[in-house]
Amino acid sequence: MEYDLAIIGAGPAGLTSGIYAARAGLNTLVFEQGAAGGQALLTDFVENYPGFPEGLTGQELARKFTEHLSKAGIKITYAGVDNITKQDKGFTVLAAGKEYFSRAVILSMGTQPRKIGVPGEGEFTGRGVSYCAICDAPLFRNRKVAVIGGGDTAVEEALYLTKFAREVHLIHRRDRLRAVSLLRDRALQNEKIVMRWNTVVEEIKGDKLIQALVLKNKETGEVFEENFDGVFVFIGSVPKTECIGFEISKNENGYIITDEWLATSQPGVFAAGDIREKFLRQVTTAVGDGALAAMSAEKYLVEKY
Ligand code: NAP
Repeated sequence: MEYDLAIIGAGPAGLTSGIYAARAGLNTLVFEQGAAGGQALLTDFVENYPGFPEGLTGQELARKFTEHLSKAGIKITYAGVDNITKQDKGFTVLAAGKEYFSRAVILSMGTQPRKIGVPGEGEFTGRGVSYCAICDAPLFRNRKVAVIGGGDTAVEEALYLTKFAREVHLIHRRDRLRAVSLLRDRALQNEKIVMRWNTVVEEIKGDKLIQALVLKNKETGEVFEENFDGVFVFIGSVPKTECIGFEISKNENGYIITDEWLATSQPGVFAAGDIREKFLRQVTTAVGDGALAAMSAEKYLVEKY
């Protein structure tokens, strides 16, 4: 069967693209390799999505988006996309061993956590090293944990961890947080959060579970070992572009470059949400991207076919 549009990834961007594509009457496929909702699912509480002044959990928001797509008449295909290749008049999407043909594609696969790349990180992932506080925080009740990073994610997750852990050490490589002032102030005022400025992790050590971090103070050069029960890494993310089997322009960090219509360098391919080069990565901006990408794809299809 031939489709007008294949949307790869059902986070806020992909789900919104699906809703708009359905309204435009496009024969649309939406692929998702895990659970629909994207990063929102890993967010404890969303307090900056308009229309919900009291805030709501990320899971609740993701569920509302998914319900909305279903109401628009689109069923999600729960399968990981392994490869997207270019054909004469469209694209072939290979997912779970099955091929689908689509005339246009929206890339909305989002990002995955960046690794620190120190010895022990891989070995202790799932054994004390985590990239998701909402998933693993309850395992660290009354324990001492480290959070690596200084951006919005690190600070938000450190605050969340204070509900469980005894002490949360926010280990940042500089002497000033990148996070917005609201989050910054909350962290600095939280008694359970210990700020560890100008500090980097050199190694993660343990036995069956992690036991200690080797830290380096960048100002003094001092290298020392300190006991920790867990370490949460939030040092940014990298775009998930592995399944793209054709040439496409990306920036130096691997994010897909789009124009103001969210068209990529490959005709018929659009990008929406965290996967593309942009200034602000939020649910609100992902939703806006999703709508625009779907409308641009429709325009492309009308003009071309
Ligand atoms: P980010 O803004 O890129 O911050 C990454 C942090 O990790 C920075 O503090 C950076 O340090 C540090 N870092 C990077 N590489 C490192 C390394 N190798 N070793 C040690 N530290 C390292 O990433 P993010 O916090 O995940 O946020 C991503 C986007 O999502 C942002 O646009 C953010 O605003 C948005 N976001 C928004 C919310 C919200 O609105 N509530 C929540 C979460 C995320 P430097 O500061 O020195 O560069």
